[in-house]
Amino acid sequence: MTRAATKDSGYSQQALDIAAKVEAFVRDVVVPYETDPRRDEHGGPLDVLANELKELARQAGVLTPHILPDGGHLTQRETALVLRKSGLSILGPVAVNTMAPDEGNMYLLGKVGSPDIKERFLRPLVEGKCRSAFFMTEPDGGAGSDPSMMATTCRMDGNHWIINGKKRFITGAEGAKVGIVMAKSEDGACMFLVDLPDPAIRVTRVPNTIDNSMPGGHADITIDNLRVPADQMLGESGQGFTYAQIRLSPARLSHCMRWHGAAVRANEIATDYACRRMAFGKLIIDHEGVGFMLADNLMDLKQAELMIDWCADVLDTGSLGTAESSMAKVTVSEVLSRVADRCVQVMGGSGVTSDTMVEQFYREIRAFRIYDGPTEVHKWSLAKKIKRDWKNAQTGGHAVAPVMEVR
Ligand SMILES: Cc1cc2nc3c(=O)[nH]c(=O)nc-3n(C[C@H](O)[C@H](O)[C@H](O)COP(=O)(O)OP(=O)(O)OC[C@H]3O[C@@H](n4cnc5c(N)ncnc54)[C@H](O)[C@@H]3O)c2cc1C
Repeated sequence: MTRAATKDSGYSQQALDIAAKVEAFVRDVVVPYETDPRRDEHGGPLDVLANELKELARQAGVLTPHILPDGGHLTQRETALVLRKSGLSILGPVAVNTMAPDEGNMYLLGKVGSPDIKERFLRPLVEGKCRSAFFMTEPDGGAGSDPSMMATTCRMDGNHWIINGKKRFITGAEGAKVGIVMAKSEDGACMFLVDLPDPAIRVTRVPNTIDNSMPGGHADITIDNLRVPADQMLGESGQGFTYAQIRLSPARLSHCMRWHGAAVRANEIATDYACRRMAFGKLIIDHEGVGFMLADNLMDLKQAELMIDWCADVLDTGSLGTAESSMAKVTVSEVLSRVADRCVQVMGGSGVTSDTMVEQFYREIRAFRIYDGPTEVHKWSLAKKIKRDWKNAQTGGHAVAPVMEVR
């Protein structure tokens, strides 16, 4: 695609410039850090490494590139362009401050936070001064695929809320300074902003997981009589799931954007291997089995890109994009999984070693098929929508339901 055609697709010159700067920074400055040994026991970058990278990004003018100096946000379509570039290195999102869960948390606080909450909790995140965590999932009997099973409770005591419960898989909880904690009051789900660390929020374990790019890993948590001042509730009591919806679609989509960048890079590495490695008298790319795998990768990457851009366009209309982001999340996570798997295969034994980034990208993208809603849960909720639309069509006197409104 030519640059002019890209412009005609709706990107501002500003977004194109930011994306180009982010790509150059990630490729030239961040990639060499991929072998830096400063990692925690679960493989994620230690904060000392993350902070060094953030400082370099600050100096290069690419820190938090999707949030503009006036506090405005790039459109989702433009964010996609920029976040895909940040994903080209496993450390890219950490370096330029587009990583999960901070990116989703910043988006939510920007949309729903009071001026005081924005000043206290959002500003330091945008400035890359600290990390945050989002506390929703719970162990057995609590919120998982079904968040309505939330068992963590909150009750008023004078001017404070008292929160009790257990949480699971909380990315980056260890080392975070800002927490968004979900709990249920008599009114329903609530969200709270919490300063971390707090002795009432205990990390009981950080399990080893298949993925290991995120600072702090994914922690099991016990919350024991946590006292939170009433003005640190986000919005209103009982509206927690409404706010979760606001965060959900863009956060899901930004995972798609970053992992798309990672799959592009994995494909670059595998292509380079295939164009140099000989077998049976010729380069392996000239064996149809290998050439076809790389051709399939190209088509799958384009399919994922188009799905991301389509969903971003829907979000840019102001829609919550719940169904569209489910469709995008399932398609992109499954497609990128296939791409990463083929990259490993093309590279033979080298593909399963940590000598290149392909092996880690493969593991990271596998985990993405679970978080922010497993594939089956998204398909199940889409099936419910299909039935609902069919019923509505019947009521409206139509013989056939419109399968999906494509915007
Ligand atoms: C790497 C990682 C990071 C995470 N980070 C966070 C975080 O920062 N904060 C946070 O709150 N949570 C986080 N999570 C939790 C994540 O959102 C949950 O794992 C996810 O929602 C699934 O919940 P569960 O693990 O309890 O699976 P379960 O609810 O036990 O479901 C298990 C499986 O059952 C199937 N299933 C469930 N319901 C249906 C259905 N209706 N139809 C068909 N099949 C179904 C699916 O195949 C699913 O994978 C993270 C998870 C991972 C793996």
